[in-house]
Amino acid sequence: MPVPTLIPLRRLFFFLCICAVSIIALYSVSHVIVYHIPLTTTVLFPVMTIFLMVFHLMIAGFMVMKYLCDKSRLYHIAIACAFSGATLFMLGTLSSYPDWLTCSPAARINYNDALIYYFFRNVLMAVLFLAAVILFKYRKHNMHTRSNHIIILSVIVSFTLAMLVLSWFVSSHYEGINVAFIDNMTLAFTPLWQKATGGLLITMWLVTLIAMLIITRLRNIFWFSGCFFCVFYIFTLTILLLSPVGESNNWYQARMFETIATLFLIFVLLGDVFTLYKDSNNKYQNSYQNSIRDPMTQLYNRSYFYDSLTQTIARVTPQQPASVIVCDLDHFKRINDSYGHLQGDKVIQFVASILQDSVRENDLAARIGGEEFALLLVNTSSEEAYRVAERIRLIISEHDAQSSSGSFPEKITISMGVFTTTSAGLGVEVCVQRADEAMYQAKENGRNRVVTWQPER
Ligand code: GH3
Ligand code: MG
Ligand code: MG
Repeated sequence: MPVPTLIPLRRLFFFLCICAVSIIALYSVSHVIVYHIPLTTTVLFPVMTIFLMVFHLMIAGFMVMKYLCDKSRLYHIAIACAFSGATLFMLGTLSSYPDWLTCSPAARINYNDALIYYFFRNVLMAVLFLAAVILFKYRKHNMHTRSNHIIILSVIVSFTLAMLVLSWFVSSHYEGINVAFIDNMTLAFTPLWQKATGGLLITMWLVTLIAMLIITRLRNIFWFSGCFFCVFYIFTLTILLLSPVGESNNWYQARMFETIATLFLIFVLLGDVFTLYKDSNNKYQNSYQNSIRDPMTQLYNRSYFYDSLTQTIARVTPQQPASVIVCDLDHFKRINDSYGHLQGDKVIQFVASILQDSVRENDLAARIGGEEFALLLVNTSSEEAYRVAERIRLIISEHDAQSSSGSFPEKITISMGVFTTTSAGLGVEVCVQRADEAMYQAKENGRNRVVTWQPER
């Protein structure tokens, strides 16, 4: 018996390979870029932050929309809060670069505040991602009552707000509490960051990553990108933790890594939207086709025939007439009585396939009753319609059990009535009725024939 594993090993191996390849490739590329750009500018970092902010906001929007589409998936809201909260933290980061917009060289950058916002952003995201994974695990449990949703949403939103408020108090905006992660003058990281905080963040992301791997089992590209996101954050924090001073190019590399992980998630979500759109469009097409076709023969149904006839008649002119042919199988009751209804159905299906194959693409073949059919031939004169009907009648009458592969138990014949209109003023009912009258005339004249409707003299 195969031993069940926590995560399918092939998927895990694939995931680790993708992570390793992307990290090595991105690290090399970013290393080259960062060391070739003059980093004396005070604008680059804030501009990168703004890009990241916009990407985060997009993801938050996607997540809210996904939640609104399917409210049983509460975990989307946790992720939405993680990204929208992160956007607000990035606004805080921008406020730590007060002169970036004016490109002032004498920028008074508050690196410590920026790092404080970065710290709280990481805590918020790691915790809310973990919450999302837990909510995902219990998505099918009986917890989707209105009150439960309100409680969970309140907890998530309150936690996000609490992190934002706490970061504001810890930052330089409030004098009461002073936390130093980096020295704004020397740009050296403090022991608090180096020995405790950095490690704490990495541990939190690790716990989130492991929980995500175990619970979601990398089941789809969405959770695959979620785990990828965690790995990139762990790697980013490791780079930062290993650098002794904050001035180093590692900050730019870190931001690049964050941006790539976020972009990856955006592409996955866009792919998701595309798949959803494709699926719902297919479903719509299926149900639309089901609503206009007869399930047994796949010909169009009666109501679609009448709708199409209405539209066609409106465009009719003496130069572009339209013809209606009504057909009824001869002595069909006898077929049912002699061979059973199943065999009768086969006859109807075979006749339907002949009718479908005998009309042009713009014409229309419909089943308007049990063994009654109608053809709508656009831009077709009375003589042409008669020829088409006669050809169909002959094809049907020439088939036998052998040539129809058993669909016809014996020779079958059909009676057909043709009516052609050259006037757009004629009603749909009148057109069908006249073709019907001609068909009954064919029955009366001995069946197995085509009659064209003639006005009574
Ligand atoms: P006529 O030549 O005068 O048309 O004789 P007929 O026996 O064909 O008479 P009519 O058109 O009134 O008969 C229709 C028969 O078609 C009655 C019904 O049992 C049969 N029928 C209607 N729908 C179906 C169907 O879906 N499957 C089968 N097997 N039989 C059907
Ligand atoms: Mg009939
Ligand atoms: Mg009949």
